[in-house]
Amino acid sequence: MPNRMTEAETSQLEIHDDVPCPGCGCLCDDLTIALDGGQVKSIEPACAMATAYFRHPHVSADDCRLDGNTVNTEDAYQRAAEILQTAKAPLFFGLGETTSEAVRKAIDLADRVGGIVDATHPTFYDPTGRTIQTTGLVTCSLGEIRQRADMVIFWGCDPLSTHLRHWQRYSAEATGRFVPGGRSDRTLVGIGSSNKTTDACDSFIPLDSAQQIAALHHLISLAQGKPGNHAARNAVLRDASESLAELYEQLCSSKYFVFVLGEAFLRREAGRVPLELLAQFVRPMHEQTRGAISILRPGPNWVGAGGVVASRTGYPGGAALTQGIPQFDPDNLSATKLLAQSRVDAAVLWEGPWLADLPDEARQTLAQIPTVVLGHRPLSSDFTPSVFLPIKRPGYSDEGTMSRMDDMPLPVRALAQENLPAAEEAVQAILERTTA
Ligand code: SF4
Repeated sequence: MPNRMTEAETSQLEIHDDVPCPGCGCLCDDLTIALDGGQVKSIEPACAMATAYFRHPHVSADDCRLDGNTVNTEDAYQRAAEILQTAKAPLFFGLGETTSEAVRKAIDLADRVGGIVDATHPTFYDPTGRTIQTTGLVTCSLGEIRQRADMVIFWGCDPLSTHLRHWQRYSAEATGRFVPGGRSDRTLVGIGSSNKTTDACDSFIPLDSAQQIAALHHLISLAQGKPGNHAARNAVLRDASESLAELYEQLCSSKYFVFVLGEAFLRREAGRVPLELLAQFVRPMHEQTRGAISILRPGPNWVGAGGVVASRTGYPGGAALTQGIPQFDPDNLSATKLLAQSRVDAAVLWEGPWLADLPDEARQTLAQIPTVVLGHRPLSSDFTPSVFLPIKRPGYSDEGTMSRMDDMPLPVRALAQENLPAAEEAVQAILERTTA
């Protein structure tokens, strides 16, 4: 039997409505959270990932450490400043774990000490920024999917496992202005490897990574009315060739289609090619219907971090500020590559679950160079940071702006007090202890 609260217990609760949730890239802003003395007692609607975010163990002032030993924050700020002043090429990354205001401050610090900034997710490959510069990209907000999409194609993604309320709130079950029947008004297609989401779709096109580029060329040739080389195409696509032709007919007769893409579509090893090809297919489809591309990005604020870096440096994703001006070289300046090749001599990072998935070479470098880690959760990694700075948790005890996966900025709120600095304050304190 679940524990039920007594009336007296319920009356002591502090109820917060319409709370934005940094638990994933959906940034749902409709949670009701009940607090009791700052402790989260309940979260509605219940989402396992939201619960994990808000109820994950917190850090405290005692977690402020130098080389694993407890210190006060003043000593930690001073040591962080010394590390950055001494380093020739300090790296700033993990920025998507904090608010856009803190990212702006981190860029001030990187600019002061001549650092390299990478705002991209260290393990989720997202070539949107450069694709917008090359082919362009028709995108849409999550609200447009909810209100308009009568056909949704989930390609290389599994939101029912990674973004738990996406299906119900936006892409499948939600009722919208032009899809009042919700799920019954939508045609859902899964493409790629079978998973929870594709199992729940109306149809599924199995496709492995070796077939992906041929499949995209096939769709483009169908849209252009060009026959292409049937024999070569069918040799690669086999049964999928006919299924993709049927998909194309369905897309033509839809009113508004959306491709929802995940990691298995974006494939780092394929570079920008898959996304650029899909963009080339979607744009001319507007001569007969409407359609868009939506990327299922991780949370909480990787889109916002990229936007702040772009607005400050002029470049999407990141830039080197080592020469006093922003320099762009995304193929060589990614955090994982710089670490794996030992091309940086210090690092400032916001901790996140992706730390466990960094390549071994990158983690080994983190263990060898001076590191300043800011975190609102206890650090679970195989290196001991030179400086660990405990900070407030965005959306729980720290407020600011975070951007949803569709680039929609939303205010996150402070619901409770924690006797810790906000990330922005911590970076400002380090900045004040450095000289140009
Ligand atoms: S789907 Fe994501 S943003 Fe929405 S409540 Fe769950 S964890 Fe939070």
